[in-house]
Amino acid sequence: SHPTVYEPLTEQGAISLAVRLGLFPEGTPLACREIGDGNLNLVFRVVDQQTKKGIIVKQALPYAKVVGESWPLTLKRAVIESNALRTFASYVPQYVPKVYYSDESLAITVMEDLSHLQIARKGLIEGKTYPLLSQHIGEFIAKTSFYTSDFGMNQQEKKQLAQSFVNPELCKITEDLVFTDPFFNHETNNFEDELRDDVEALWNDDKLRLEVAKLKRKFLTEGDALIHGDLHTGSIFASDEETKIIDPEFAFYGPFGFDIGQFFANLLLNALSRPEQQQEPLFAHIDKTWDVFATIFSDLWRTHNVEPYAKTEGLLEDVLHHTFIDAIGFAGCEVIRRTIGLAHVADLDGIEDKEERLQAKRYALRLGRSLILQRETLSSTKEIRSLFAQTV
Ligand code: ADP
Ligand code: MG
Ligand code: MG
Ligand code: MG
Repeated sequence: SHPTVYEPLTEQGAISLAVRLGLFPEGTPLACREIGDGNLNLVFRVVDQQTKKGIIVKQALPYAKVVGESWPLTLKRAVIESNALRTFASYVPQYVPKVYYSDESLAITVMEDLSHLQIARKGLIEGKTYPLLSQHIGEFIAKTSFYTSDFGMNQQEKKQLAQSFVNPELCKITEDLVFTDPFFNHETNNFEDELRDDVEALWNDDKLRLEVAKLKRKFLTEGDALIHGDLHTGSIFASDEETKIIDPEFAFYGPFGFDIGQFFANLLLNALSRPEQQQEPLFAHIDKTWDVFATIFSDLWRTHNVEPYAKTEGLLEDVLHHTFIDAIGFAGCEVIRRTIGLAHVADLDGIEDKEERLQAKRYALRLGRSLILQRETLSSTKEIRSLFAQTV
């Protein structure tokens, strides 16, 4: 019997689904394991025991389990995720898993198994550098954001597309956890007692609060393009040759600079966890991401623009300038929230020596603050190195 009303899948249920969809030849000996991290979603890997070829079944749960509590969370995010993967695939199929099937009522996405790759955060923590990572991420963001914007697609159709990605509950998570709670004495925050003085200084910093409020307003109001919305290094599978972006359940029409900023921040959080002589490849990734993004975006702007004002002297430069400043500011918010907010990163939490870990987190708070306050004074990503050096 095939459920059509929502219920959480079991491992056996995931196997049945794969068979019913004809994803394996009849009679294939299949095994299945749930491999998700268990916060928001179930992720099953169904694998042919002989060839070891697999598929992935991701299912949204109707709640989010966080620190022992749970809050209800819309299943519609599964539709957002599968539709975002399909939309991205129409521009950059090389950078997303193929979607084989999706079912709205079961909140399921069946997709390509990427187990031959590694989650970039894990590899970066092991000291890997992934030489093509920034080339690929820069191209992914440039193409998906240009082509889904009012410059790259029919502006009436864009409004329809934006409507299909209205994602209030997932956006609220970002509004709260990235832009609000870490800057107030809020119960969702999570940090070591030893950091309390540094954190309280942040909470009492009126200059900082105003700039974060401006950045939050941008996130709330600016619908430039279809963005991924959760583009940290845990949403990226990588190898030396390949890059694949997963987990776009937070996708919505948001500001151009947001994904770039989140990606920058997670590279910087990794840099903070490394010895100084191993940090340069991360700064180089930041430079390259921006350079590739700006180059491809500018090229598409000149060759594929649908907006009559496109050729107006100075408009492209204005868009890039503000995207850059916003990205740096968003990066600062992300660095801070990953240090003292609800959801941490293994890059920092995994530093074994307690004093080193606390020191890295203090640096992270200072770096985040500098990125936010000095974002309008940076003229290129290269200057992030000196900002970083002043902080640590
Ligand atoms: P969540 O939204 O719960 O964070 P993710 O989509 O990030 O879920 O997936 C959680 C984990 O499941 C990933 O870190 C990865 O280990 C595994 N996973 C997800 N998608 C795939 C895939 N297409 N191929 C292989 N493993 C995957
Ligand atoms: Mg996860
Ligand atoms: Mg997710
Ligand atoms: Mg994830």
